[in-house]
Amino acid sequence: MSTLILGGGVTGLAAAWHLQQRGQAVEVWEAGSSVGGWMKTLPWEGGHFETGPQGVLWQKGTAVDRLFSAIDLPFKSPGTGARWVGKGGRLIPVPASPPSLMFSSLMTLGAKLRMMAEPFIPVRGAEPEEGLSAFIERRLGRGVATELLPAMVAGVLAAPADILSVDAIPKLRQWEATGSLVNGIRKSGVSHMVVPEGGMGALPIQLAARLADVRTGLRAEALEAMPDGRWRVRGGGEVREADRVVLALPAFEAALLLGSAAPQSAAALGAIPYTSVDLWHSRHAALPQLKDSFGFLIHPPEGRGYLGSLVPSWMDPQSAPDGLMQLRSFIGGAFGKPADLETWEGVQARLQHWIPTLAAPLAVRHERAERAIPRPELGHRARVQAALAGLPAGLDWLSNARFGPGVRDILEGLESWA
Ligand SMILES: Cc1cc2nc3c(=O)[nH]c(=O)nc-3n(C[C@H](O)[C@H](O)[C@H](O)COP(=O)(O)OP(=O)(O)OC[C@H]3O[C@@H](n4cnc5c(N)ncnc54)[C@H](O)[C@@H]3O)c2cc1C
Repeated sequence: MSTLILGGGVTGLAAAWHLQQRGQAVEVWEAGSSVGGWMKTLPWEGGHFETGPQGVLWQKGTAVDRLFSAIDLPFKSPGTGARWVGKGGRLIPVPASPPSLMFSSLMTLGAKLRMMAEPFIPVRGAEPEEGLSAFIERRLGRGVATELLPAMVAGVLAAPADILSVDAIPKLRQWEATGSLVNGIRKSGVSHMVVPEGGMGALPIQLAARLADVRTGLRAEALEAMPDGRWRVRGGGEVREADRVVLALPAFEAALLLGSAAPQSAAALGAIPYTSVDLWHSRHAALPQLKDSFGFLIHPPEGRGYLGSLVPSWMDPQSAPDGLMQLRSFIGGAFGKPADLETWEGVQARLQHWIPTLAAPLAVRHERAERAIPRPELGHRARVQAALAGLPAGLDWLSNARFGPGVRDILEGLESWA
């Protein structure tokens, strides 16, 4: 069986790796000049910065662990750093473990007591699809849903929790299915944030190095069914025929190619919204209270488009020159971007509102991540089901919009798929 995979992001490359491991002939086409999609580590004087993910959740014996071991990818964990939620004009520490949430000022006593009842809340069937905020409110109470969830979700999906489907974070339903979230988390164990040596971009590079046939700079432009049931793909002046074509592409890119071959799938995929976000990377003199931390997220109503700032130099010390601390500030997303956040001066003013002792940066760079993050709004499940059901034999679609937003979700989803 020959397979052509379109898209050389982590999804396409990991899918190709799984198929190659099973002895199949696989070719990958990547439109960009290098592999990785959003997962790229780019040089920046004296260090580097990430265009997309800063780390991946790793745990012994999981899909991430199995893949990293199989491709000999060295990685490090920074451990557990402090993290905060910006609320009420100040940064409030987020406790490292759920039990210590009881002593946190993040929520009222009533909200904490309600949260403790979670193990006794009955499990609800998967259908009909529930909203993310409604799910959290049902299981953990209104306090968690309104006071804690919005900042956490803004930090992952750059979107308001109350428009999203519970499927936006697939782990939640998986944990509930074990009886309760507490039980699910206890059973699945603790994951650690890890970063490959050299940055996240090392993962797609290592995957590509182990694949027989990866082509970059080759964008698929048309897809057509052949009379013998095989598929023909054209792009960049090349034509390829394969038994199977896997579209490892964002939904909107897959929709373009599927237009005539699978119109129902194309319509369903075209209806999945994506979020754009502005990323400001900045290097500052290291501040003791911030430099060894994960960073902070802002309760969205208070953030007014400023979602928070993380500390990549804590996760990956090689990213910044010695003595400097590297921040990455997230702006806009589905919350919109007010005019003051169009420039670094505006972003710096917001940063210094929360960290008044932060010195002006020694270097700054701005990246616009256009349509970078899928937005699984309520109704997402039906869209994904319609997209998959409409695919003729020999076509498949793989994406974080199908498996979940994080690299861990993708690698777990792909392992089952393969
Ligand atoms: C700013 C940001 C921060 C993130 N932070 C984290 C994090 O800390 N931890 C975490 O786990 N996850 C994080 N994520 C999510 C994670 O990075 C993504 O889920 C993952 O990288 C998506 O990979 P992908 O291969 O599915 O898609 P993509 O990376 O979008 O790859 C798709 C590829 O397809 C190519 N392509 C498009 N059209 C065609 C065509 N017609 N023919 C051929 N090729 C084509 C594109 O060039 C691209 O390379 C973050 C994402 C972003 C954007």
